Amino acid sequence: MDFAAKRAQLIESLSHEIKDSRVLEVMGRIHRELFVAEPFTFCAYKNEPLAIGHGQTISQPLIIALMTQALELSGNEKVLEIGTGSGYQTAILAELARSVVSTERIPELAKQARSLLDRLGYQNITIHLTGNRLGWEQDAPYAAILVTAAAPQLPHSLLEQLAFGGKLIIPVGSMALQQLYRITRHKEGNLVENLGGCRFVPLIGIEAWENH
Ligand code: SAH
Repeated sequence: MDFAAKRAQLIESLSHEIKDSRVLEVMGRIHRELFVAEPFTFCAYKNEPLAIGHGQTISQPLIIALMTQALELSGNEKVLEIGTGSGYQTAILAELARSVVSTERIPELAKQARSLLDRLGYQNITIHLTGNRLGWEQDAPYAAILVTAAAPQLPHSLLEQLAFGGKLIIPVGSMALQQLYRITRHKEGNLVENLGGCRFVPLIGIEAWENH
């Protein structure tokens, strides 16, 4: 079966759980096989996470769709993504928002993602290589923040970069297992919603896990 047919099949299976048609439409257009390493392209459309090198993974399509849907993007937002990885989630966000600022701590991954996203013609994505500090304070506040690696607790520094009324999606828990949270920032106190269990690679840095 060719990639287009496999992609259509994956989107059909996601549509049982994902109701935001814009998210499905965009995922139906982006070629996930370009974002996975050569030996794995044959399973690019399985609903599974895949290794992208350096001990990191491209997330499972269903969880990517769930996280993106939970941001409820209208198209006008400046979005911050923590953990560019392959750049696949970055591309999805770039199709659904005005602009995306994405941060990555592994130079090779940042470089690879940047060149692929450039090649695909995205002009509303900026990728920054970051150290131990979370996010990209220089361009804050963001209307939406998506964290694609797991934190031991909710990082205050990321909440500070979120606009009032904005949404932050982040997996929080132990190294082995986390809960996916959506936090909506309000002046009078934040709304915290648990979207369910998940499993991500660790977020490294201040207010996150130490690099071992
Ligand atoms: N969204 C990516 C998922 C990659 S896995 C994709 O779809 O491919 C999570 C990524 O987060 C890894 O590449 C890891 O290097 C990165 N990461 C971990 N801690 C980070 C931090 N503090 N800042 C930026 N990126 C971080």
